[in-house]
Amino acid sequence: MQSMLKFITCGSVDDGKSTLIGHMLYDAKLLFADQEKALALDSKVGSNSGKIDYSLLLDGLMAEREQGITIDVAYRYFTTDKRSFIVADTPGHEEYTRNMAVGASFADLAIILLDASKGIMIQTKRHTRICALMGIKHMVFAVNKMDLVKYDQKTFKEIEKSVREFSDEFSFESIYVVPVSATEGDFITTKSENMTWFTGEPLLTYLENISVGQVSIEDEFVLPIQRVSRPNHTFRGFQGQISSGVVHVGDEITTLPSGETAKVKEIYNTDCKVEQAWKGQAVTIQLDKEVDVSRGCVICKNSKLKVSTVFTAKLLWMDDGKLVAGKNYILQIGTKKIPAVVMNLKYRIDVNSGVHVPTDHITKNEIAVCDISVSDKIIYDNFQHNKDMGGFILVDRVTHMTSACGVIEHSLRRGDNVIWQNMDITRDSRAKQKDQVPKTLWFTGLSGSGKSTLANEIEKRLFGQGKHTMSLDGDNIRMGLNRNLGFKEQDRIENIRRISEVCKLMNDAGIIAITSFISPYEADRENARKIVGEGDFIEIYVATPLSECEKRDVKGLYKKARSGEIPNFSGISSPYEIPEHPDIVVDTVGKTVEECADYIMEELKKFM
Ligand code: ADP
Repeated sequence: MQSMLKFITCGSVDDGKSTLIGHMLYDAKLLFADQEKALALDSKVGSNSGKIDYSLLLDGLMAEREQGITIDVAYRYFTTDKRSFIVADTPGHEEYTRNMAVGASFADLAIILLDASKGIMIQTKRHTRICALMGIKHMVFAVNKMDLVKYDQKTFKEIEKSVREFSDEFSFESIYVVPVSATEGDFITTKSENMTWFTGEPLLTYLENISVGQVSIEDEFVLPIQRVSRPNHTFRGFQGQISSGVVHVGDEITTLPSGETAKVKEIYNTDCKVEQAWKGQAVTIQLDKEVDVSRGCVICKNSKLKVSTVFTAKLLWMDDGKLVAGKNYILQIGTKKIPAVVMNLKYRIDVNSGVHVPTDHITKNEIAVCDISVSDKIIYDNFQHNKDMGGFILVDRVTHMTSACGVIEHSLRRGDNVIWQNMDITRDSRAKQKDQVPKTLWFTGLSGSGKSTLANEIEKRLFGQGKHTMSLDGDNIRMGLNRNLGFKEQDRIENIRRISEVCKLMNDAGIIAITSFISPYEADRENARKIVGEGDFIEIYVATPLSECEKRDVKGLYKKARSGEIPNFSGISSPYEIPEHPDIVVDTVGKTVEECADYIMEELKKFM
């Protein structure tokens, strides 16, 4: 009996993935009798005019998924006389690429479905590229729906030719192109009268026979450490699941990244003491001396593992947001989680042509090559050599979603890494890191016009969009930075000057600064604009008329000003100069805060 074959099916929603697998299971008599009956009954009311709809077979999996039992990928196990199989079934909706990548990371072989009536689609190429990226070496291209093209040999031959042409780029070990009809059953488990011109094996027979033997790394012992167990002061055990190879009591091992050597004193498989342990087993290992090992380190023997802090990697980007250079992530490789920065994007790989396109960002489902720097040494292997230690994921620090999966191509020694060393951290790189356009939103208007209310609302909305904001208002400025300033003209000018300088620094840090000060004099506001910088200063005039502000008199200040208790009150006893060139004007009379904020947000789009 052959070993187990782990495979994945890839295709767009209508290419017939479920029908193909369903038919294979059905024909191979892998169904229980009552399930078969139920399927036939179900299908009568289904869409396929009385014929069996094989795709319903897998709908059990869909239901599972909807109940949240299987999140990304459903694994279906089945066995024939010759071989046992695990197939990763991935849902066909728009999150498909992400799930496909998860499925592909476990598989030895991929079946890519094509629609014979459509030929190679951009999806076909994308899926093939992702399979190659995830280290799949054996590919089957099932040209489905041959019944729709009247089992035409020429159509198949043309598709086969272009499949072979574009697959040339990848170093797949085997490629099989087979014409099938998933609904009719041609070349699924048996040969077909309809395509006597095809001399190859039916799909299932091919899957039963193909040898996907991996490079043997059994003489390389690798144990990524998950936990250090210290039940008492005499015992210190290193725990993890053996990723490859065998270990015996008495073996001399090396610890990485510290590079120390020690001898294996005891091995426990669960709580049983054993003499040896091998790949796949979860073990606790005790060494004969103290070593510097913690979670994320690796204990190994004869391994080709490497240590690096800067490396070039190929990424499949899976996040809705785009990836730009300078962004921070958590990188997870083996059992290690570590802060990482994507330093620079070298190029994007066009899914269609494979061409390397220089770029400064990538969007969802794109593949790119970039340089990554991590905050401490990581241990890795060549992905082709050891999938477990060569692949990694990038996790978003805020959402904790997986943003990308990738493979390490090669290490960059710090000294060689000219790009990083030459790259100064500029205002631009800080802004890029936050994925935003830093501006100063300068709210001006009479007391009670609604500056603070609107500034607060706008900040909430920007914050909700994931923007990094900072508001400056009378309280945090007058009580801190400007506590030594009064209200005389000189102080007033100095007050605005300092606030403007702070805004400029905030913008330099990549932050969106929001201020709400009456700032009644045009000259002061112009000065602020000059300090912050013309293009970065957005003057928002809250043009609520004095009569309305006085009516609102939120803080009772107008009353006091009218009675002379407050001298030099803008609008009453000292002037408020109406802005001459405001960037945004909003009158709040008769409008709700939401309406005004909607308007400002809309206007801001012109600037940010
Ligand atoms: P300022 O900061 O300009 O002195 P505030 O925001 O403190 O003014 O006060 C404005 C007052 O006006 C608040 O009580 C607010 O609820 C009220 N208001 C009524 N309608 C609006 C609106 N459309 N926009 C902003 N504030 C409004």
